[in-house]
Amino acid sequence: MEQNHITVQQLCQTIDLIHTCIDDYPYVYDLVNDYYYISPDAAKRFAMSSHSFHDVVENLRAFVYPSDFEALQKDLAEVLSGVKDTHNMQYRMMNTDGEPIWINCRGHLVTENGKPSYMVGCINEIGKRQKADNISGLLGESSLRSYLEEFSPFFPSGYLLRLGIDDFKGINEKLGVEYGDHILKKTAECISSCLYPGQQLYRLVADEFMILDFLGDGLEHAINLYKNVRTTIDQFVESNHYEAVFTISGGVLENSSLDDFSFSDIMKLSEYALNEAKRRGKNQCYSFVLEDYEQYLKRRHLKQIIRQAVCNNYEGFQAYFQPLFHADSHTLYGAETLMRFYTPEYGMVSPGDFIPILEETGLIIPLGRWILHQALFACKHIQQWIPDFQINVNVSYIQIMKSNIISEIVSAAEQYEIHPSRVVIEITESGKLESDVHFSKIWDKLKSNGIRLALDDFGTGYSNFHYLNDLQPDVIKIDRSFTAKAMVNEYEYNLLSLMSGLVHDLKLKICIEGIETEEEHNRMLDLKPDYSQGFYYGRPCPLIDFIEQFVKMSS
Ligand code: C2E
Ligand code: MG
Ligand code: MG
Repeated sequence: MEQNHITVQQLCQTIDLIHTCIDDYPYVYDLVNDYYYISPDAAKRFAMSSHSFHDVVENLRAFVYPSDFEALQKDLAEVLSGVKDTHNMQYRMMNTDGEPIWINCRGHLVTENGKPSYMVGCINEIGKRQKADNISGLLGESSLRSYLEEFSPFFPSGYLLRLGIDDFKGINEKLGVEYGDHILKKTAECISSCLYPGQQLYRLVADEFMILDFLGDGLEHAINLYKNVRTTIDQFVESNHYEAVFTISGGVLENSSLDDFSFSDIMKLSEYALNEAKRRGKNQCYSFVLEDYEQYLKRRHLKQIIRQAVCNNYEGFQAYFQPLFHADSHTLYGAETLMRFYTPEYGMVSPGDFIPILEETGLIIPLGRWILHQALFACKHIQQWIPDFQINVNVSYIQIMKSNIISEIVSAAEQYEIHPSRVVIEITESGKLESDVHFSKIWDKLKSNGIRLALDDFGTGYSNFHYLNDLQPDVIKIDRSFTAKAMVNEYEYNLLSLMSGLVHDLKLKICIEGIETEEEHNRMLDLKPDYSQGFYYGRPCPLIDFIEQFVKMSS
C-alpha cells in the first residue's frame, strides 16, 4: 500500500483507543525505527516484558516458542526485504505461565516512497473458545474467563459448581452426535431451570457446565443446587421415555478455598473436583478439599517417581522377607516376600500406596518379575541351611491376566533350581480373576507344574467359600483384620473357628496372619492353624537380616 497518510504514532494511539473493545491483539511494526507496538492486553497474556519495544526480532525471541522462532524470523525477513507484502502465519507464543499458545498473526506491509515503512496487523488466539455456544445457548469458556478475571477478586465467598454429564461419549456413540447435541441442550435447560437470580451458567468443554454463585452462599447451598439439578435431569430422562439414560456429576469449589483467583487455577481445581466425583462412582457431587488434592498430587508425583525408578533399574525397590512358621512346632519353614519402596522425598512408601499405582500403570508386570527373581534367589540361598525352604510370592490379578506370569514362575524356578512345590503364589482379588475366561486354563497350567496357591486375605471383601471350590487353593491365609476382630468379639471368634474346621475338612491348610501379641498367639493356636505369621514371630526384613535373625538359629 503506497501513499501512507497514517503515521505509526497515530496507529499506536488508535490501538490504545480500541484495545478494550476487542479480544484480539492489534499491533504495528515500525520497520524504519525497528519498533513494535501491540495492544497492552498482549503483555498481560504473553511472556513479553512490555507491549512496546525496539530491536524487534531479538525481543520476539524471548516469547515466541523456540522451535517456531526460525520460521517466523524467515517470514519477517521476506516482508522486510519487500519479497512479499503480507505476513500470515500460525505459530506459538509463550503465555505468562510459560505455556505455548497457538496464535494466528496477520499483517500487511505499508510502503512509503517505494520503501517498506511499517507493518500493521492483528494477532488472535486460535484456541480461544467460542464466546457463546449455539447448541446450549450459553456463554462459553472465554466469557467465563473474562468474568472471573474481572470480578472474582471482589468475591471472597460463594462457590463454583462444575457439572459434567456422565459417559456422554456413550450417548454420542449409541444415539448419534445430533442426538448428543439435543441432550446437551436439554441438560443446559435443566440446569438453567434450577438457578436463582444472580447465579450464572457457562458451557465449558464438550459435556461440562460451570455455575458461578458469588452471592455469598456456602457449601450446603452448592450441594442442594447439585441435588436439584440431578432431580431435574432424572425427571427429563423419565419424560423422554428413557431414550437416553444418563446422570450428572458435580465438583464444588468454594471461593474461600482459593488462595489466588487465577483463571487457570480455578479451571484446574474445579476439573479435579469434578473428576473426583466421577472417580468416586459418578452421579454424585464432590466438594474440593485441599488435603485430598494434595494426596492426589502426591500420588501423581509418586507415579512419576515409580516410572523413573523402574527405568533406573528398580532403584529404591527392595525385597523384604517375613518368616512363616509351623504353628504347632514353631519351626521356620518359609518366608513371604514383600515389596518395599524407598524414595528420598517420601521415605519408605507403604505397599498399600504403591501397589495400586503399579497395578493401575501396569508396572506391576516388570516389578512382579523383578520381585519373583529376588524371591527365588533368596529361596535358593536359604536352602543351603533349610533344604526344603519355601518361598511365598504375592501375585496381582493384573499379572495373571496380562502377562505370562505362570510360565515365568516355572522357568525362573528351573533357572534357580528350585522344586516348583517350594514356590507358593499368593493371590488376593480372586473375585476379579474368577470372571476371566482364560483364568481356568492358567490355573490348570499352574497346578500341572506343581506350583502351589495361597488364597490371601481370606475374610476380607473379595473372598468367599465359593472360591475354595473354583480355585482349589492349597493354603487359606486369614487376614489380620479377621484375626484382630476375633480377639475382641466372641461371634467373630466362633465364625473363625467354624471356618477353620470347614477348611480343614476340605483338606486345605490354614495360615493365620497378623499375630502381634502373645495373647493373640495363644488364642489363635486354639484354632489349630497349620501355619502362623505375624510381628509376634518376626517382622519383614531384608534378606541378610532374615538369615541372621531366623535362618541361622533354626538350622
Ligand atoms: P499381604 O500379602 O497380606 O501381606 C501381609 C501384610 O501384613 C504385610 O504388609 C505385612 O507386613 C503385614 N503384617 C505381617 N504381620 C503383621 C502383624 O502382625 N501385624 C500387622 N499389623 N501387619 C502385619 P505389607 O508388607 O505392608 O504389604 C501389604 C500388602 O501389599 C500385602 O498384603 C500384599 O497384598 C501387597 N504386596 C506386598 N508386596 C507385594 C508384591 O510383591 N506383589 C504384590 N502383588 N503385592 C504385594
Ligand atoms: Mg500375601
Ligand atoms: Mg495377607
